[in-house]
Amino acid sequence: MQIKDRLRRLKNCPPFIFSEITDVTVYYPGYTNKAVTFSYDDGLKLDAQLVSLFNEYGIKATFNLMGNSIPTNTSDLAGYVAMYEGHEVANHSMTHPDMSKANVTLEAATNDIVRGRDAISAAFGNKFNTSKWGFVWPYSKPGRGDIAQLEQNIKDAGAVYIRPVSTTNSFDLPTDWFLWEPTCKDAYLKDGSNYDYMTPLTNAFIADNTEGLRLLYIWGHAADLATKKYGAGYSELEAVLTKLTGGGVNIWSATNMEIYDYVNAANAIQISADGTRVENNSDIDVYASLNGQNVIIPAHGYSAL
Ligand SMILES: [Zn+2]
Repeated sequence: MQIKDRLRRLKNCPPFIFSEITDVTVYYPGYTNKAVTFSYDDGLKLDAQLVSLFNEYGIKATFNLMGNSIPTNTSDLAGYVAMYEGHEVANHSMTHPDMSKANVTLEAATNDIVRGRDAISAAFGNKFNTSKWGFVWPYSKPGRGDIAQLEQNIKDAGAVYIRPVSTTNSFDLPTDWFLWEPTCKDAYLKDGSNYDYMTPLTNAFIADNTEGLRLLYIWGHAADLATKKYGAGYSELEAVLTKLTGGGVNIWSATNMEIYDYVNAANAIQISADGTRVENNSDIDVYASLNGQNVIIPAHGYSAL
């Protein structure tokens, strides 16, 4: 366009230089509305086989470490830290106490969680942010009279999300990050009587055509996969990973924290007052469609049509 034409256009029709944005659809990276995340507990050396499998498929996961499971020997520690490279490490307390027990005081429970945080920080350095981390309850979310205060203490210590063991069988995003229930465990429950299980739910997730951001969230223990304690082993996990990364399937793989960050960024985008821009005040690029046109709304920037 010639300069004079552009000036004429500006003069004749301000402020409608850009099209009005009437339809914003937010996606995950890759313009998909489906994401998958995994969460594995306890941080034992058995995680090595699991991490290798995830790495083979380019899948990211979150590993919830017990402070006590972190090696103290310097050379073992180096290998342990290197093993989790590319994945998230989160806090699963120091000693895995049963916080539903009356003899675990509020102070003791809080201290155990803070010690877990500090042990991970000491081992992982700047790969772990002490003021922004995930927490997984040892055993399960405890039923105790002071649970609200305990959760507040965990938040005050830097947690931004908490995962229990209860599951939803659903692909909805959480409404409360401090009760971020997974879709399912990786294997059958002990009684084998329901479908709280990764294979049928992965099939359902791939077939799901609900609009909006969807999430398949699977949790488990490497030790249970190794022994098939709950019915599923590594071969079944590998079959699930094959489906999630297969041809014709577009699913974003992310750690728990990456999901947390991305969803918060996506939820915060806003259409400008004049309706011509979509603004992103977060630190993360957000994928979206504006009036049917795919755009990446840059971090601390905006997109227009
Ligand atoms: Zn555990």
